[in-house]
Amino acid sequence: MEFLTEYTTEELAERLGVPAFRARQIKKWLTLYRDFEEMTDLSKTFRAQLVRSFTAQPLTILDCIEAKDGTKKYLYRLTDGNVIEGVFMRYKYGNTLCVSTQVGCRMGCTFCASGQGGLIRNLTAGEILAQVLAVNRDAGGNADRRAVTNVVLMGMGEPLDNYDNVLRFLRLVSAEDGLNVSLRNISLSTCGLADRIRQFADERTGVNLTISLHAATDERRREIMPIARRWSLAEVIGAAKYYFERTGRRVIFEYVLIANRNMTEEDARNLASLVRGFPTHVNLIALNGRVSGDQLPPTRAQAEAFCKRLTDLGVSATIRRSMGGEIEGACGQLRRKRIEEGV
Ligand code: SAH
Repeated sequence: MEFLTEYTTEELAERLGVPAFRARQIKKWLTLYRDFEEMTDLSKTFRAQLVRSFTAQPLTILDCIEAKDGTKKYLYRLTDGNVIEGVFMRYKYGNTLCVSTQVGCRMGCTFCASGQGGLIRNLTAGEILAQVLAVNRDAGGNADRRAVTNVVLMGMGEPLDNYDNVLRFLRLVSAEDGLNVSLRNISLSTCGLADRIRQFADERTGVNLTISLHAATDERRREIMPIARRWSLAEVIGAAKYYFERTGRRVIFEYVLIANRNMTEEDARNLASLVRGFPTHVNLIALNGRVSGDQLPPTRAQAEAFCKRLTDLGVSATIRRSMGGEIEGACGQLRRKRIEEGV
């Protein structure tokens, strides 16, 4: 079944063989994430016709768990039965939805729940968009007063490994007659596919780029991130600089703090020399999730000491406020739990 959320208004007109005004009507309902029976300004016969060949809602909200701080973890069911997840966070400046770009992931980072099961499939642009539309509706928003103002592509999956669909999603979510989310309010997080970062820089989308670094030498990085065997840190940093040159946007680096892996004084020095020399910021994230002796989360004091070392070395760095800790907020964790429980 074809998802109507894949299309721009112009494409809808063409695909459905309807005039522009009709396509705009349908687009309006799709943006509100309404199903066909709710599209009350379309005739019953036309709606019945649409139902036979198309889907208006590529996913349904299966579950929503709210943490004490207002963070909500969403589980969605796709039409093929696959389950993906997202996180909705409330900040002073607006509400951010973290979206998934793939079912699973083939990058295999050792600390990440999504990487463990491998890639099941890419999400289509319409499925990525549907996450934003469904949560915007669920949180009481519409097209004029959005409940979701910011989007981060930091959920399950590697966005640059699903390049064309992600690019199309960016076009759809920022369309003026769609939800019209500003591209400057969108961040894309990648584990460092250097060639794709350069390609993405050339698209000049205006999206913020975040790169998961997690280690400051190639040797260390290869221990926890298989992608480091394909692209060296020099290549990743080169691509990050290129992104800055092409877009003028400061690049954010993420660094998961693993107490017994990447938090020595030398790690701080190496990290500082990597990210200095162009506008960057380092987001430190305490390892979240299951504790194995292999990889331990840092104490608060250890995290703060590492952060201070970096700032003393002239690096702009902060520890990311952890939100929704008790609801398994990190990548792929809730889905994994669900699958293990046999839901
Ligand atoms: N594939 C992309 C985006 C998805 S993961 C990327 O790698 O950037 C989003 C962020 O969450 C990444 O920085 C990832 O490394 C981090 N992450 C994954 N599992 C985590 C965990 N258990 N604890 C802390 N951060 C984690």
